[in-house]
Amino acid sequence: MSGDRDVEVLHGISGSPGIAIGTAFVLGGQLTRVPRRTVREHEHEAEIERFRHATLRAKEELRRLVATTRERSTANAVLEAYAMMAEDPMLGDGVIERIRVESRCAEWAVVLTVQQFAQQLGEADDPYLRERSRDIEFVGEHLLRAFNETGEMRQIPAGQVVLVAQDLSPADAAGFVFVSGSPEARATSNVVAFVTEVGTRTSHTSITARALKLPAVVGVNDVCESITTGDLVIVDGLRGVVIARPTDEDLEEARDRASRHRALADELHQSRSLAATTQDGLTLAVRANVEIPEEAREAREEGAEGIGLYRTEYLYIDRVHPPTEDEQLSAFRQVLEAMPDRPIVLRTFDIGGDKFASTFKMPVELNPMLGLRAVRLALSRPEVFLEHLRAMVRASAYGDVRIMIPMVSSVAELRWAREMLDKAIEQVKATGAPVADHIPLGVMVEVPSAAVLADHFARSAEFMSIGTNDLIQYTLAVDRSSRRLAYLASPFDPAIVRLVERVVVAGARYDCPVSVCGAMAGDPLAALLLLGLGVREFSMEVSAIPEIRETFRRVTLEETQRVAERVLELDTAAEIERVVAEAFAMRLHDLISGAP
Ligand code: PEP
Ligand code: MG
Repeated sequence: MSGDRDVEVLHGISGSPGIAIGTAFVLGGQLTRVPRRTVREHEHEAEIERFRHATLRAKEELRRLVATTRERSTANAVLEAYAMMAEDPMLGDGVIERIRVESRCAEWAVVLTVQQFAQQLGEADDPYLRERSRDIEFVGEHLLRAFNETGEMRQIPAGQVVLVAQDLSPADAAGFVFVSGSPEARATSNVVAFVTEVGTRTSHTSITARALKLPAVVGVNDVCESITTGDLVIVDGLRGVVIARPTDEDLEEARDRASRHRALADELHQSRSLAATTQDGLTLAVRANVEIPEEAREAREEGAEGIGLYRTEYLYIDRVHPPTEDEQLSAFRQVLEAMPDRPIVLRTFDIGGDKFASTFKMPVELNPMLGLRAVRLALSRPEVFLEHLRAMVRASAYGDVRIMIPMVSSVAELRWAREMLDKAIEQVKATGAPVADHIPLGVMVEVPSAAVLADHFARSAEFMSIGTNDLIQYTLAVDRSSRRLAYLASPFDPAIVRLVERVVVAGARYDCPVSVCGAMAGDPLAALLLLGLGVREFSMEVSAIPEIRETFRRVTLEETQRVAERVLELDTAAEIERVVAEAFAMRLHDLISGAP
């Protein structure tokens, strides 16, 4: 612990549940911390040699990571690109010139060259090039670490370590912890949690942390200034709080909560084979939302009855070239094989908005959330979409594949998707490859117009899944990533409750199954409100599955219906939340707090 600074409580977003205590290791910042020496002319060649040597070491380190992350295609592709950038002659020439002409030491020359490139790229109109500006900084960080001649590029402290970073690049995540997402990899790493300044629940840091079952708090303002390497920190991924330099009482409380959380998790894990049946006998379907194929195995272990949402856009993010049809097929098969005989909902890519994929050259938009996103992007790139659908159609031979279209705002878009799917089926059949007899096509209801037109969609789609994250954002006009406006983005808002009810009624009328796959389904109190409103299928992130299954086991359908009926009369989110909490919170106290 660094003795003279006080305890500090930092608030962020819960990226991955659990509580961990460890010594901070603050990553990055190399670009601002290197020696800045001028060198004499007779030293120039030696400096250039040091630079070449460091480049080699950085490249080798990156290639070594590529080899050890072979199973993770997304991280792998990024690392490959970094290794290529590290030996880019433009970068090398720039550095050598600064040594020769400006007589700067090698590290300083690297910093200046990287900063110049990053600035040029950062000012580009093309978002693809702008994103490269961050990449070049990551490569610069790696190069600078490679100047360290101690032989260990990543000097991670002994004991339990909490990684703290402005952002955790895939290279750093891979290098420090992540080898293949396997439990063995976790067992050999002493990293116990992540804390980052940027990020949301769906950022890579959070996803990696959840897949590895490591607690993470993301979106913590100025965390790299508040925490220094060597500080003791508590990472509370349940509450989204980080305590830097805690007091003895804080530590005692954290240890106590951590052990209660583990006990609760164990207890829930033991009951994973029990059905999610209410006390009056209604069994609900609880499925998983996954972003990377490895999560599907975890989902099955937690008792998920299928995958209600596979966010396939993660196949496109963080890479230089789009995934090939075969690569997509192999990711889809991995999910299907992890969960045979269960429905697997493959959502076509939802790229755009806050999910940026550099493989698509996207236009600059004033309001990307209202722009070329998801099905709209698919419409503008029919060939890419068709290839994506063909991979899904080929996957249908290996399990119960269903295809879902995101961000649909009119029935015309659904009709277009239907035509494209028919074309994809025809093309796959023409190759002689096996295809399922039927592949259901459904829509996400996440744009208010789709909820308003729920009866039209119920007649044309084979299923509907309510995406409450976006439905809340677009209905209430609240940016889903805004921390300042988060108080407005309530799933208990009467407008949301009413829209959900509308979709459920339309689904029942036209025999079109309705599920909810937004975060509302994974919140115990909100899930009970959904149950009362008539939702019978729920899909959520894997870590929420045990709690939600247990939540359903503790109530009767009848009482949730009574509560739902009552709240439909109420005016505000606060009133609705209070009524639901009064009815159920006492019974769910342990599940809501994450610790009995
Ligand atoms: C949603 O919008 O609720 C949803 C599940 O989709 P995503 O979070 O991927 O936008
Ligand atoms: Mg959405």
